[in-house]
Amino acid sequence: MTPPLPKVLLKPQRAQPFFGRHPWVFAGAIDAVSGDPADGAEVELRTTAGTFVARGLYNSQSKIRVRLYSWEPEVPLDRAFWKARLERAISLRHNVLNLNQPNAAYRVVFSEADFLSGLVVDRYGDWLSVQFTAFATAQRKEMFAELLTELLLPKGIYLRTEKGIGKLEGAEIHDGPLRGEPPSAEIAVEENGLKFVVNLSEGQKTGYYLDQRNNRAAAARYAHGRRVLDAFCYSGGFGLYAAKAGAAEVECVDASDAALALAKKNAEANGLDRVTFVAADVFDHLSTRAKEGKTYDMIVLDPPKFARDRRAVPDAIRGYRRLHSLAMKLLDKDGILVSCCCSGLILPEEHEDVIVQTAIDAKRDLQILERRGAAPDHPVAATCRETAYLKCWIGRVN
Ligand code: SAH
Repeated sequence: MTPPLPKVLLKPQRAQPFFGRHPWVFAGAIDAVSGDPADGAEVELRTTAGTFVARGLYNSQSKIRVRLYSWEPEVPLDRAFWKARLERAISLRHNVLNLNQPNAAYRVVFSEADFLSGLVVDRYGDWLSVQFTAFATAQRKEMFAELLTELLLPKGIYLRTEKGIGKLEGAEIHDGPLRGEPPSAEIAVEENGLKFVVNLSEGQKTGYYLDQRNNRAAAARYAHGRRVLDAFCYSGGFGLYAAKAGAAEVECVDASDAALALAKKNAEANGLDRVTFVAADVFDHLSTRAKEGKTYDMIVLDPPKFARDRRAVPDAIRGYRRLHSLAMKLLDKDGILVSCCCSGLILPEEHEDVIVQTAIDAKRDLQILERRGAAPDHPVAATCRETAYLKCWIGRVN
């Protein structure tokens, strides 16, 4: 007989979201905790009346006090449970999306979107990059590394965690090789026939922005013959796709020299000339270009996350407005605007409102051509729609 699990009791009237299978139980919804669970321990979530709701993992140090994983009272969150969850995530990428190709790069596990809150796994060729974004998953890192090795046979697994997570979760997370061979500094991956170099230990995010894969291809369909500006280019994603699709010229801009060095390397590896690279702040660069009277036929705006928390949203919106009014000045007649926003706190309507309003202010007619999200290896869990964060909006400016 296993001893009964510690119990987390909800306040009255607070159980509904969790019967609705939302995975985050914030401290404010909790009435009492019994059984003295250690951080990372398995607990049962119950209503005030004592009815079972779900099983989850506890963390006294996080605002998310319990992360929920299972709504089955009898199924423990053991190795077999996590293995089945990983298999389900892998099956989406391999059997449904067909992403399991040589030198492929894709997200294998996307936290809540794969019912695995606190675990993100990316595949870059023969290597995996793993992020633990919860104390409880970090605590189980050896088990996850073992399971991922068994299921995906990587040459190595590298631990790479977003800044600030340790503090939010009270976990000590040290980046570095977790299993197998350490990755070479440059891993060559292929995406829609284009080669990209990825640096797992030093690149931004986990090395590459996998979520934009299909949006790069979508944007490229408009690029033929156009003069393209790729603003916030990082390793060249949108710009190189546009060049390959036959853009007349492509100008890639980023503030990071390391990013531009990667972008140049990628352009060369794909034999793409007609691409120029500018190291500059995008806001400054667009203003300068506008003053020079330069115009483009297509502008891609893919800025970093401007809003990290709710308080930052008004400033972020102002930033997006400035960016878009500059783009309106620079786009020639019949220009194509590709506008991305990866701040989950800014809703699709709010992002679109910024674009629409700046077009009206600039007295430009605007047509919406495509409203897109992240590639489907970054799915949206219907019970946790916060997992929808990326907007990629394509329009025509007359
Ligand atoms: N479009 C890229 C991803 C962009 S990520 C792709 O498809 O892969 C955002 C990029 O913006 C980063 O490379 C970062 O270095 C750059 N960046 C952030 N703030 C900037 C600024 N003010 N001016 C120029 N680049 C900036």
